[in-house]
Amino acid sequence: MSQAFSSAQPVNHQSNNDSNDYANNEPATNTATSDFNQNTAINVDASEVEKFNNLASEWWNKTGAFATLHEINPLRLNWIEENVKRGFMSADSSKTAEMGLAAKKVLDVGCGGGILAESMARRGADVTGIDLGTENLKAAALHAEQSNLNDTLRYQHIPIEQLAATHAGQFDVVTCMEMLEHVPDPAAIVEACFTLLAPGGVCVLSTINRNPKSYLFAIVGAEYVLRLLDRGTHDYAKFITPAELDKMAITAGFTRQDIIGLHYNPLTKRYWLAQNVDVNYMMAVQKPLA
Ligand code: SAH
Repeated sequence: MSQAFSSAQPVNHQSNNDSNDYANNEPATNTATSDFNQNTAINVDASEVEKFNNLASEWWNKTGAFATLHEINPLRLNWIEENVKRGFMSADSSKTAEMGLAAKKVLDVGCGGGILAESMARRGADVTGIDLGTENLKAAALHAEQSNLNDTLRYQHIPIEQLAATHAGQFDVVTCMEMLEHVPDPAAIVEACFTLLAPGGVCVLSTINRNPKSYLFAIVGAEYVLRLLDRGTHDYAKFITPAELDKMAITAGFTRQDIIGLHYNPLTKRYWLAQNVDVNYMMAVQKPLA
């Protein structure tokens, strides 16, 4: 049932002809910039990015292919902000902790069309969104422009590993939501998130657990029965257990902060957060103070 999306392939941006000039026809001034270095070995599955790129016109359709991301966004945004406050409190800088996301330098990795990135900018954060899908970035930049968020929200076409090589320690918060289950080497992404954070910074990750229940809910239920997601959106083999994600985070150097499950009742169409992490979950971790 799951499709063959798992083989890692290099992204060939020359043949796609979309590396630098994809934003040139846009009247928008918030155009995503591209610093993509084709010589950098990158951790990406081109067919995965292509799936999202092909749906780029759907990003801001609240009842379209990404309706679920729009629905869960307020919940995850609040949880991210709570963890930012808690993390900065423990880092002994309670003044900035109280402000939550406001005035924090945030990096959103695998930002897609910017649903989360934009909501964090609206809370006062200075946000950089990165993705490897140029159509996604184009949709994100256009929407940011239309939302008058140009001053505090920008998008960049760059692999996280490449950004980590030049911007180590420059972010207060790094988010990487619903992306790790689409990459060949999620541990390397977690490691790059660690590098990019300043000491005391908070990282929030989300993905899908791997067990029979998550197969039933996230693939059979969401893609085939309820049609919440397009078929083939997820590949079961790439789901990540909380223990595996925890290990990646600890190996990268993080300390644990919190973990929570994201739940959905198709009858009531209600989403909520709860301790059970059998299917969708989020994890917050912190880079220790130096
Ligand atoms: N984080 C967003 C979008 C999730 S969809 C949200 O939760 O609302 C997954 C996104 O990850 C897609 O936009 C896809 O293009 C991107 N992606 C996949 N592999 C990537 C990689 N290696 N680096 C950066 N982005 C990647």
